[in-house]
Amino acid sequence: MGGTFDPIHHGHLVAASEVAAEFDLDEVVFVPTGQPWQKSDKDVSPAEHRYLMTVVATASNPRFSVSRVDIDRPGPTYTADTLDDIQKLRPDADLFFITGADAMEQIMTWKNVEQLWGKAHFVGVSRPGHELTDFGLADEVSLMQIPAMAISSTDCRDRVAAGKPVWYLVPDGVVQYIGKYGLYVDDNGDKTRHN
Ligand code: ATP
Ligand code: MG
Repeated sequence: MGGTFDPIHHGHLVAASEVAAEFDLDEVVFVPTGQPWQKSDKDVSPAEHRYLMTVVATASNPRFSVSRVDIDRPGPTYTADTLDDIQKLRPDADLFFITGADAMEQIMTWKNVEQLWGKAHFVGVSRPGHELTDFGLADEVSLMQIPAMAISSTDCRDRVAAGKPVWYLVPDGVVQYIGKYGLYVDDNGDKTRHN
């Protein structure tokens, strides 16, 4: 499952759990993105913080793990590279690439999208307020509605910046991690970060 995870929240975890159940997956590997080209207009927290919050959030689930492939690869993250790296680490695995329907739409409109075919089955999950789009690629792409969790990382960051709680929106350990390192507290309207 690919994402920025800035921070990881219960919407991500429910989505992973639902897709794993639906497709009978043995494992979900969370892959925090490197320098996210999809979000180039916004600042994103340092990869190490996003990676560690993802580790904290998934530690209790024996079927969840976290991969550093995207954060350790220099340059922008391309899904084809992510899938190649994960496949090298798990040569016998049948890969499913899970992400939100919004991110999936961007990946599917990428000019070199044909490079992705055969590398994985693609699962786009939806959340409230994001319509499922028909990409016209039915064989390679599945779209799945996730039980309504109106949580986004943007909202979590805004809440921390405004001094509001994020308890129960993100796992307890992630609340504590955010507090320990003072993440998002300096965020303001123009998204300036001081890390
Ligand atoms: P941001 O607000 O910073 O964009 P986000 O909440 O969308 O963050 P990402 O790290 O971008 O989090 O999420 C990875 C993928 O998970 C995205 O493609 C997103 O659509 C999906 N996702 C996020 N929140 C939910 C949710 N509550 N339910 C289902 N899918 C979600
Ligand atoms: Mg998003």
